[in-house]
Amino acid sequence: MSESVPVSVDGAIQADVVIIGAGPCGLFQIFELGLLGIRAHVIDSLKHPGGQCSELYPEKPIYDIPALPVCGAQELIDRLLQQAKPFNAQFHLGEEVTELKVLEDHTFLVRTSLDTRFHARTVIIAGGLGSFQPRRLGVEGSESFEGTHIHYKVKNAREFTGKRLIIFGGGDSALDWTLEFAGKARSLTLVHRRAEFRAAPASVARMRDLVEHRSINYVEAIAHSVIAEGNEFRGVRVKRMDGQIEELAGDHALVFFGLHPKLGPIAEWGLTIDKRAIHVDTEKFQTNIPGIFAVGDINTYPGKKKLILSGFHEAALAAFAVAAHLNPAKKIPLQYTTTSPIMHKRLGVPD
Ligand SMILES: Cc1cc2nc3c(=O)[nH]c(=O)nc-3n(C[C@H](O)[C@H](O)[C@H](O)COP(=O)(O)OP(=O)(O)OC[C@H]3O[C@@H](n4cnc5c(N)ncnc54)[C@H](O)[C@@H]3O)c2cc1C
Repeated sequence: MSESVPVSVDGAIQADVVIIGAGPCGLFQIFELGLLGIRAHVIDSLKHPGGQCSELYPEKPIYDIPALPVCGAQELIDRLLQQAKPFNAQFHLGEEVTELKVLEDHTFLVRTSLDTRFHARTVIIAGGLGSFQPRRLGVEGSESFEGTHIHYKVKNAREFTGKRLIIFGGGDSALDWTLEFAGKARSLTLVHRRAEFRAAPASVARMRDLVEHRSINYVEAIAHSVIAEGNEFRGVRVKRMDGQIEELAGDHALVFFGLHPKLGPIAEWGLTIDKRAIHVDTEKFQTNIPGIFAVGDINTYPGKKKLILSGFHEAALAAFAVAAHLNPAKKIPLQYTTTSPIMHKRLGVPD
């Protein structure tokens, strides 16, 4: 919400700057702020830093990072983390920012899905394409059982012991949980749409061994619809590759189709948004709310290109704008990392 609201900030973490998003641009933002002597808190809904690079294409090579003719996407993230290390940012991972409120004194209250609260003097949104959400089962009748009988993550493994489980997916999560629950569940059926798996070969081999010994079942199929009697979940119908429909009885379905980004709560914070991106100026990369900035894929301005390179430039200018916002009376000179003793001190480089 953009209007000022009287909200208690008792017990909130005090922060000069909170960065929302630990993708490549959020990580470089830590570095650029650090050079100016500003320490950041960084929040990401994923359990690990890296955004799209780590989540969508970690093994793929990137060819358009300046001075790195070729760099693996995860390698880029590892390098950014290493570069930002001297600035000791505090990471809050596995927490989605659900609320951003402007307070009466033009500072901000940031709240996460785990109810961590920050009282921030500035906020930089580096939210990319949005926070990563699980791909849903998305078949007839599935929505009303989500959270009770259809699950996208395992919060408490004991809940599934002794139960009839249907696990969907062919990646590491699906295989890891299949192996974990084999022998502990009353019955277990793994459903995957094709013979090839994305999971670690050793896990696939162990799973095939369990199928061979009839410890678990395996069906090559896609989900078709939910089997229900009134409000009672009874299992899932699947469609085999030959078109035949099969009924799988079960108490719970565990669905691991991976994650995809969704703009999510960012859309509700009173920011000017155009085609799922936040409007910023190109001097400070500030949004329509003074003190809130946006860098990387999440922002838009005339000529915007959603490239990592663009986000890096935006992060540099946003850092200067944050420094000016925090300390309007202070002039911030441009200093070279090559020669500046202050920068060397901040970087931990001996002079
Ligand atoms: C297959 C593929 C190949 C690509 N190749 C290239 C290339 O060669 N060169 C290039 O320049 N670019 C490439 N890109 C694009 C590049 O990955 C993006 O431009 C870059 O990741 C944007 O970085 P970012 O930090 O802005 O956002 P992201 O990487 O999307 O990270 C944003 C982070 O914010 C988090 N987040 C969002 N909302 C919230 C919230 N409410 N609370 C908490 N956390 C939140 C997300 O979980 C995510 O981790 C490629 C993209 C793809 C998919």
